[in-house]
This record gives sequence, structure tokens and C-alpha cells, in this order.
Amino acid sequence: AKDPVRVLVTGAAGQIGYALVPMIARGIMLGADQPVILHMLDIAPAAEALNGVKMELVDAAFPLLKGVVATTDVVEACTGVNIAVMVGGFPRKEGMERKDVMSKNVSIYKSQASALEKHAAANCKVLVVANPANTNALILKEFAPSIPEKNITCLTRLDHNRALGQISERLNVQVSDVKNVIIWGNHSSTQYPDVNHATVKTPAGEKPVRELVSDDQWLNSEFIAVVQQRGAAIIKARKFSSALSAASSACDHIRDWVLGTPEGTWVSMGVYSDGSYNVPSGLIYSFPVTCKNGEWCIVQGLSIDEYSRNKLDLTAKELSEEKDLAYSCLS
Ligand code: NDP
Repeated sequence: AKDPVRVLVTGAAGQIGYALVPMIARGIMLGADQPVILHMLDIAPAAEALNGVKMELVDAAFPLLKGVVATTDVVEACTGVNIAVMVGGFPRKEGMERKDVMSKNVSIYKSQASALEKHAAANCKVLVVANPANTNALILKEFAPSIPEKNITCLTRLDHNRALGQISERLNVQVSDVKNVIIWGNHSSTQYPDVNHATVKTPAGEKPVRELVSDDQWLNSEFIAVVQQRGAAIIKARKFSSALSAASSACDHIRDWVLGTPEGTWVSMGVYSDGSYNVPSGLIYSFPVTCKNGEWCIVQGLSIDEYSRNKLDLTAKELSEEKDLAYSCLS
């Protein structure tokens, strides 16, 4: 039997955490043959709720779940973890300035970075979900210099999956037959959902989405707006945020990273830019990636038209500004 993998979830008593921990314990993140030990961290005011989640995990009697650490102590939470899913973050409350939210999150990610750096297992893989996800991940990277930068990522897979879902609904095809959309840039409203390289499996072979959706107008405006604003639409409908799909896509992100992407398929991940596609290096930016042997690699050589170029640059500009704001909160 395999040794258990230790998976940290921060903010585990929150909405996403509540949806995510049972998925991990059922093997959806790491596979149905991979035992896990869950490490759940939350802040003191949420300690009782966190304990309630732990009780439910016991009650669910998950065969793969070999242990649960539920704690408000960041060192205890981080010790020995192989995978860290960072969902905890300070929410933007009404009347708060962007800088105030940033400042709170910078200090959270700075201290969690140090704890991970000192106490996590070697080669720990980190996924940041809490917003502003790209910039939180960047801060984490800066303050955990001994964790390789390739191990620090942020979630844009939900946006990626939303794009697949929209194409599938529009064309009335199975979502599993649609692939290779791309989310470029920030997990924010400036992200660019790009279908220029996406394809659909049809009885007549693989066809470009651009050929099947002949309505360029829809692809260039409504589709992009729907994907960018889907989170808000779900809050409006459900009165709560999109925790189920966020949790599911976090599992997709880690699973593909650890177990690999299928041949011929890429996914979107927020990763440390190496300057590919002329995206400034030193930002955590969402790119198309393939994964193999536990490592991601940015898909190279895709053609970028002028329309797309502008969108790639716009979201990079926003990320540079966020980075500056984050640094100004540090000093
Ligand atoms: P959620 O579990 O709903 O969301 C957690 C984070 O994920 C938020 O930053 C949220 O961003 C972000 N997020 C990213 N993608 C999505 C998506 N598709 N849908 C919804 N959220 C998304 O928040 P809760 O408030 O329920 O839970 C947060 C937990 O974190 C609480 O248990 C709290 O105690 C803990 N916490 C920990 C802190 C710390 O570690 N120091 C500080 C503050 C809270 P957005 O805000 O933009 O919705």
C-alpha cells in the first residue's frame, strides 16, 4: 500500500474548505488508491467550526483518510505537508479599500510562507486559492525562498473549467470533448479566456472551436464576459459563493499537476512567469501548461493575434500593479 500523503487546507472551516476536504478524503484530488492525512488550519474564531468539520470527517468514515490534524497553530498545520492548498484569506468587506485587503493578505501569506518553508516536506507543492490569488502566491514565493518557484502556483482552473463549460453548452457537446482553452493572466476580471487554440472532438474528428462557433461576436464578447463574471452570477443566484466548483477545480489542478495531463491536452495554471509570451518575468501569471512527472511546463509556440496580445498585456499590467501594491504594504 502507498504511504499517506499529507495535504494541508488553510481556511478549512470556510465555504470552500467545507466542500474541498471531503473531495480530498475520497481520493478525488490524488487518486482512489492514495491514502491521505488531512491537515486543516483555521484562525481562532473558527476553531469550533473547524472541530465540527473534523467530527464530520470522522463520521464519513472515508477509507482513504488515515488521519486528521485540525489546528489553529500554523506550525503544527504545516509540519510535514506534501501538498498545501491555501484557501484561507481575508475577505474584502464592504467599504474596505483594495490596499487594506491587500495589506491583510500580504501579512497572512508572509507568515504562512515562513511556516511552510521551515516545516513542510521537501518538494511540497503549493496551490493558492484565496484572493488575490496570483499576488498571494507571489508573496508566498518571496517569503519562502527555499521552496522552488516551480512549486508555487495559483488557481485559474476554475476559470478554465468555466470556459470549457460555456463552449460545451453553446455547441451542445459533452464538456469532456472540449479541450485546450486557455486562461491568461490574473484570476480577476482582467483574465483573458482564449479559445483560439481550443478544439472539440466530433464524429468527423477534432475541430477548432473557432470553426464550430462561427459567431465571432459571441466568442469575442459575451463568452469572455460570462467566464469573467461567472463568480458574481453564482453569488447572485445562490447567495453564497461558488464553493463547490472552486473546490472541484482545486482538485483538478493538483491531480493534473501530480498525475499528469493527458497527451495532447493542456490546462491553465497560475505559475511563476519565465518571460514566455513576453509576459514580464517575476509575476504569477496563468498560462497553458502540460504536466508530467509532477512538473508543469508552459506550452510554447502558440500564435497570439493582436486582439489577444492586448488582452495578455492588460492582465499583466494589472498584476504588476498588484505586485507594487503588495510590496508597498510590506514596507
Ligand atoms: P471561501 O471559502 O468562500 O473563500 C476563501 C477564499 O477563496 C477567498 O479569498 C475567496 O475569494 C477565494 N476564492 C477563489 N476562488 C473562489 C471562488 N470561485 N469562489 C469563492 N471563493 C473563491 O471563504 P470563507 O470566508 O467561507 O472562508 C475563509 C476561511 O478562511 C474562514 O474559515 C476563515 O476563518 C479563514 N481565514 C483565515 C485567515 C488566516 O489564515 N489568517 C484570515 C481570514 C480568514 P473572495 O474573497 O474574492 O471571494
